Amino acid sequence: MSKPKVIIIGAGLTGLATAYLLLKKGIEFIVLEANEIIGGRIETITGSHATTMEMGATWFGRQHPQLIKLLDELKLDYFKQHTQGVSLFETMSFVPPQKFEIPDSEEPSYRIVGGTKMLIEKLVSQVGLQNIKTQTKVISIKEIGNQLELTDSHGDRYLASQVISTLPPNLLVKTIQFEPNLPESFVQLAQETHTWMGESIKFAVEYAKPFWRENGFSGTLFSQASIINEMYDHCTFDTTGFALKGFLNGGTNTLSKEDRKAKVIAQLIKGFGPAAADYIEYHEKVWREDSLAFYPYETLVMGHQNNGHVLYKNALLNEKLYISGSETASQNPGYMDGAIVAAKTIVSKFQ
Ligand SMILES: Cc1cc2nc3c(=O)[nH]c(=O)nc-3n(C[C@H](O)[C@H](O)[C@H](O)COP(=O)(O)OP(=O)(O)OC[C@H]3O[C@@H](n4cnc5c(N)ncnc54)[C@H](O)[C@@H]3O)c2cc1C
Repeated sequence: MSKPKVIIIGAGLTGLATAYLLLKKGIEFIVLEANEIIGGRIETITGSHATTMEMGATWFGRQHPQLIKLLDELKLDYFKQHTQGVSLFETMSFVPPQKFEIPDSEEPSYRIVGGTKMLIEKLVSQVGLQNIKTQTKVISIKEIGNQLELTDSHGDRYLASQVISTLPPNLLVKTIQFEPNLPESFVQLAQETHTWMGESIKFAVEYAKPFWRENGFSGTLFSQASIINEMYDHCTFDTTGFALKGFLNGGTNTLSKEDRKAKVIAQLIKGFGPAAADYIEYHEKVWREDSLAFYPYETLVMGHQNNGHVLYKNALLNEKLYISGSETASQNPGYMDGAIVAAKTIVSKFQ
């Protein structure tokens, strides 16, 4: 059994930012991560033509000051989302999409150069890979005197004086056993706390060239009538990789991947013409199928419901268990900015 220290559960953005801040304070820690990959709801994939495509978090804006501050500190560049050209809005399936243009004066959103994974990779290099234990799924937490004993799915045990959970609250109370039980009021709150984007389906289609740009389209598309609800140009900063990327109607999780793909390509052909059929690869991620990100709710839970609830400020199990993760943040909960806010809030409590 390892010696007592601070244990961070989860190597998503909150867990890594927490580790980074604890390191700066000289506090010893270890991060336990269930997955074999690091990053949680930040997942950048690379297509066969080297286009980086975001299956998770992508955009941020000036309203996200803590994230921007961290990017600046880590010397990571970002760039404006491409919106120039004709955008499409499909109201009904039997009429052609309406065309509109987004004014240059509109407040832009930004993407990280090289993909959102750059933020994860930079934090990992700061924190040290040796301090992150992957494929280590915590399944129980037991209070033993002034320590907490964690057990993982392999049966290995870890002792800690303090534990910081960064799991989405609903996932935490549904997948980790506690002894003694956590307060009923907390469990109830966690079960009714929305996991941002947990029900979403992301897709990306990689192309050899940005034919939509060449034909005067921005790549932005909104639809109330077809499988793609929202989509944007997803070319790389240096315009060497070309893709369209967005969100599918969440209800289509019941279809097969092949069926979704066929509907996506048909919608792209309808919107942008026959060149859309000439794609390299189709990628998608159904987030509700990722059991390390999402657990189904027992009742109807609306987007952002109970995010940033004041009860998350209270440590549990006699001040040894801290509840963190983006959904608990007092500002911009659910977003990447919220993850940094949550990390800062918890680390400020450590001397
Ligand atoms: C499709 C999608 C699109 C998004 N788009 C945006 C966007 O454009 N802009 C934005 O700001 N935000 C966006 N977000 C939200 C953003 O991704 C999150 O706010 C942020 O990544 C949350 O980080 P986190 O560390 O709090 O949680 P997570 O990333 O969920 O990290 C939790 C970690 O805990 C691990 N874990 C789970 N169970 C266990 C266990 N039992 N033991 C050990 N480890 C465990 C998980 O594997 C994961 O690595 C999006 C999210 C999704 C899913």
